[in-house]
Formats: sequence, structure tokens, C-alpha cells
Amino acid sequence: MQTELLSVTPEAIQRAGELIRQGQLVGFPTETVYGLGANALDADAVKRIFEAKGRPGDNPLIVHISRIDQLAPLISGEPSPAAKALMDAWWPGPMTLIFPKSDVVPMDVTAGLSTVAVRFPAHPAAQALIDAAQRPIAAPSANRSGRPSPTTAAHVMEDMDGRIPLILDGGACEVGLESTVIDMTGSEPRILRPGGVTPEMIAQVAGSAGVDPAVMRPLKEGEVARSPGMKYRHYAPTGALTIVKGADGAVIRKICDLYDAALEVGNRPLILALEGHLPAYGDRKALSLGADAAGMAHALFARLRDADEIGADALFSEAVAADGVGLAVMNRLGRAAAFHIVEADE
Ligand code: AMP
Ligand code: MG
Repeated sequence: MQTELLSVTPEAIQRAGELIRQGQLVGFPTETVYGLGANALDADAVKRIFEAKGRPGDNPLIVHISRIDQLAPLISGEPSPAAKALMDAWWPGPMTLIFPKSDVVPMDVTAGLSTVAVRFPAHPAAQALIDAAQRPIAAPSANRSGRPSPTTAAHVMEDMDGRIPLILDGGACEVGLESTVIDMTGSEPRILRPGGVTPEMIAQVAGSAGVDPAVMRPLKEGEVARSPGMKYRHYAPTGALTIVKGADGAVIRKICDLYDAALEVGNRPLILALEGHLPAYGDRKALSLGADAAGMAHALFARLRDADEIGADALFSEAVAADGVGLAVMNRLGRAAAFHIVEADE
């Protein structure tokens, strides 16, 4: 299959919408990461997503809508007052809510679960595509399973060339990490996956927000993943990644030591650091993760792909505080490192 790459124009959107209606797949930009979309109400189309990604069949998809009135048919029962408050505050935006599903949503979308994840994306091209398709679009991130999520159309092409007919190019994604996934089926909102809408933002409008304990650690043996995606090794570069935590000066010294030791034994080390710290690493090979936690959210997946491109086999990354959007950054970085985190001594 030939994969076409088109800039976002009204004509390209119409063509993409037609492909979706025909049961085909389209790569498209959102404010979080690029999505791989199919008609959410067509089980055969949805199966193609799993094939193209090599995605395990027990990892459910998010259903994307472009009007609030598209929600009711997808779910069973009424959204709770907390869910309504969250929707009012952060939709359209990088927030996914989980509700009991209705019968119109195929089991292939929810991987057999009785709940459905729904998001109203803010990106104009994503909204225009859903409008053009005239139906909700099921879409996971447009990477091959296990690879970092794509934040540019070129990343989607790397992973999906020859597997899908069309990719819409809308430039780099604004947030850079996947949406916040919040389970709304319990007594209080529960964050299963942190993202651009932070626990602080959720608590502000919904009164309280729990964070699933699996967010900042690997699943224990036999533990059931409430967010099935969390059980897979994710976002991982090919090289072994170590995160170094602690005070700035100690972290920089520790990373320099680890880097030099790796070089000594013939590895190809690489450092991932905040922009302002780069000079402190001297002539060691280092890539910038941006200026702060928001910059890291934006840059992280692209840098992990760059690390593969360079052929780095030992990666050492700085950390950020796990609050605000930093919680999402540390969740993804932690998973990419298989939670291999070392403390730098003072
Ligand atoms: P992706 O869009 O590739 O980031 O994948 C969507 C993620 O949303 C999955 O990995 C799941 O963890 C989560 N998800 C989707 N539907 C549900 C659901 N019904 N219950 C819990 N988590 C879900
Ligand atoms: Mg994904």
C-alpha cells in the first residue's frame, strides 16, 4: 500500500473523511500526539488499527468526538455531575473520560471491556476530520506498538509507511504526551494515565481526584491493569535508559560518571537533559529536553526517537518533579526506563 502524506487543507480533510467512512485508516494530528483513526462504529475498520500497529488485542482504544451530542449514544446512563464539570472545563482538550459503554460501541474498540474511553480533541484538524467522517473516530497513538508515540507526521510515516493509505500533516503536536485518562465509573474521578490535564486541574473542578497507584511504578505480578495500556513496556527507546534523580549539581555529576563509565566499556552513551544544563555536560553527547516540565512533555518522545536514530545504547536522563504536567512526564519517562531510577548523592 502506498502511503500518502498531505498537509491539512479542506480537500485533504474531505478525502480523509471519505477514507474513514470506507473503513480505512488515517493518521491525523491532535494536540496530544498523532492518532491512527478508524470509524469507531465499524468493528472491521477498528480491527485494522490493531493490525497496522501490531497492538495487543486487550489494549482498548479511545473514541474521539467533535460535538458534545456525540457522547450520549456511546455511553450507558448519564454522565455524573463531576463528569459534566470536567467536560465543561477541559473539553475540547487533552482529557479522556471513561464511562459505561452502550451497545453501539463494538467490543473491538474497548477490547472486551464494558467501559468506553471518550475524548473531544481541541486540534482543529482532528475536529474537522471527525466532522468530515460524520461519525466518532476510534484512535490510539499512531506508532507501532512499543515505540514512542508520534508527535510529528514524519514520526507517523516512520512507523506506518506502507500500512495505511493517508497521513494528514498538521505540524508538531502542542502537548506532546497522550491525554489524561480518567475513570469516571467510581465514586470519585480516578486518574489512570496522567497527561496535559493535571491532577491539580481535575481536583479544581471535580472536588477531588485519585491517582491510580500504577501510574508511578511497574505493575506487580498478577496485578490487573485498570488502564490496560499501562501493562505494556511503552515509549521505549532501543538503548537502555536510566533516570537520575536528586539535586541539580549531584545529578549532573552522577550522569557524567555514568556516561564516562559507559564510554569506557565501549558503549555509545547519550544524555537527555534540560536545556539550561547542557553546558555542564561539556563535550559529552547530550540532547535537550527543553526548558521545563512542559518543554519535556513536548520534546520527550521525539528525543527518544532521536536516540534510536543515533544508535545510542546507554541513555541517561535527568528527571523533573512529579507534579503538574511533570507527573505525566515522569510516568512516560519511568515506563521508557522500565522504572530504572537512581538517586544522585549530595
Ligand atoms: P493510546 O491512545 O494509544 O494512548 O491508548 C489508549 C489508552 O487508553 C489505552 O492504552 C488504555 O490504557 C486507555 N483506555 C482506553 N479505553 C479504556 C477503558 N475502557 N478503560 C481503561 N483504560 C482505557
Ligand atoms: Mg499509545
